[in-house]
Amino acid sequence: MKDIIVVGGGAGGMMAAIKAAEEGNKVTLIERNEKLGKKVFITGKGRCNVTNACDTTDFFNQVISNPKFLYSSVYGYDHDMVMDFFEKNSCPLKTERGERVFPVSDHSSDIIRTLENVLKKNHVNILKNTYVTDLVIKDNVIKGVKVSGTVPKEINGFKTNVPGKKEEVLNADAVILATGGVSYKVTGSDGNMFKVLKKYGHTVTDLRPGLIPLESDDKWVSPLSGLSLKNVNLALYAGDKKVFDGFGEMLFTHFGISGPLVLTGASYLNKKYPGSKATAVIDLKPALDTETLDKRILRDFDEYKNKSLKNAISGLLPSKLTSVIPLLASIDEDKKVNEITREERESLVHTLKNLKINIKGSRDINEAIITIGGVSIKEINPSTMESKLISGLYFAGEMIDVDALTGGFNLQIAWSTGHLAGESASLT
Ligand SMILES: Cc1cc2nc3c(=O)[nH]c(=O)nc-3n(C[C@H](O)[C@H](O)[C@H](O)COP(=O)(O)OP(=O)(O)OC[C@H]3O[C@@H](n4cnc5c(N)ncnc54)[C@H](O)[C@@H]3O)c2cc1C
Repeated sequence: MKDIIVVGGGAGGMMAAIKAAEEGNKVTLIERNEKLGKKVFITGKGRCNVTNACDTTDFFNQVISNPKFLYSSVYGYDHDMVMDFFEKNSCPLKTERGERVFPVSDHSSDIIRTLENVLKKNHVNILKNTYVTDLVIKDNVIKGVKVSGTVPKEINGFKTNVPGKKEEVLNADAVILATGGVSYKVTGSDGNMFKVLKKYGHTVTDLRPGLIPLESDDKWVSPLSGLSLKNVNLALYAGDKKVFDGFGEMLFTHFGISGPLVLTGASYLNKKYPGSKATAVIDLKPALDTETLDKRILRDFDEYKNKSLKNAISGLLPSKLTSVIPLLASIDEDKKVNEITREERESLVHTLKNLKINIKGSRDINEAIITIGGVSIKEINPSTMESKLISGLYFAGEMIDVDALTGGFNLQIAWSTGHLAGESASLT
C-alpha cells in the first residue's frame, strides 16, 4: 500500500484520488477551498456538460492543443467509461444535441455529490481548507508536499482561501497535481502551482485565455448588446491570416461579441496569435450566395418601392440591425428604396455578407472557460502522466498544456488524465 497525495479537489483530482484509492492505496486529497468541485459546480451553466458521447476519434478533432498527448489517457478511460462510472454510482445521465452529456437532474451538484460519495466509499482522507504551498523533492524524487491551513480573504468581492503562515510537511510515496489552470480564480485555480513547478525546473508554456469572448471598440457594436444571431458564418483574421471559419450562433454584448461561435474562434486566435488585434467578418446570410441575395433584395425593393430602406429590409434582418447595416453600407436608412442606386445595393449586399468588426483583444483570462498552455507535455510521460523530471510526481487536468472546444471535452480530459495518473501512481 502506498501513501498517495492528490493536490486539487476539482474534476481531475477527485477522479485521480478515486482511482488511486480503488487500487488499494492510502490516499489524501488536499483542497484549498472549504468544499470540493467549485469549478465543476459552475460548468455547463450549472448543468455540467460532463462529457461528450462522440466517437473517440472525433474527440481528438475537438482538442486544440496537443491532442496526441491524450491518446493513452483518453483511449484508456473514454466517455463510455466516464458515463458508466456516474450511472453505476446512481447519477443517471442524458445525451443532448451535439452528443453533449448532462446529469438527468440538470444539476452539476449531483456530479459533485456522486464523486464525493465514491471518495468516501473508498476511504479517501479529504483535507479541505488546506493549501499546498510547495513540494518536497530530494534527488529528483518526490517526498511529499508542504501545506498550510487557509485564511479566508475577499478578492474583487468574492470570498476565497489564501494560505496561512504556519507550514507543515506531509510525506508521500507519490504526489498527483491537479490544481487547474488560471481562469475563474475564485473557484480555486490561482496558478500558484505553476510557480512552484518552475522553481523545480518544469516548463510552463504561455498561459492564454481559451473559449473567451472578444472585445471591440467599434461604436455600433455595444448598442447591439443582447442581440443573438443564429445560423451565421464567422471568420476571424489576424492581419491577413484567416485563423478561424465557422458556422453557428453568436451574441453581441456591451463589450463586443460572445456566444459559442465566438468562444471557439477565440481559442484558435489565442492559440496562434495571442494578444493580437483581429478582424471578425460575419456573413449574415451564409445560405445565399451574393447573386441570390441580390435577387432577393431586388424582389423586396420591388415590393416595398415607396418604403424607406430601413423598413424594406426589416424582413431580412433582426430589428436591431436595420439601422446599423445601412450605416455601415454608407446608405441613408431613410432613403426611399426606389431611389437606391445599383452601387448602393451592391454595397448593401457586400455588408450583409461581410460585416466587419475590429477586435481589440480578448476579455481577461480570468473569464476564460479554459486556459491555453500549462505544464509542457514534453516533460510528462503520456502513458503514465508522470513527470519526466521528478520521479513520483504526476499531473492531471487543465494544468497540463492541453485544451479543447466546448461540448464536455475539457471535463473528459480531466477525467481521463486523472484516472490514468491515479492508476500509474499506484503501480510505480
Ligand atoms: C464557466 C465554466 C464553464 C465550464 N463548463 C464546462 C462544461 O460544461 N464541460 C466541460 O467539459 N468543461 C467545462 N469547463 C471547463 C472545466 O470546468 C475545466 O476544464 C475542468 O474543471 C478542469 O478540472 P481540473 O480538475 O483540472 O481543475 P479545477 O476544476 O480548476 O480544479 C483545481 C482544484 O485545485 C485546487 N487548488 C489549486 N491550487 C491549490 C493548492 N495550491 N492547494 C490546494 N488546492 C489547490 C482548486 O481550489 C481547485 O478546486 C468550464 C469552465 C468554466 C470556467
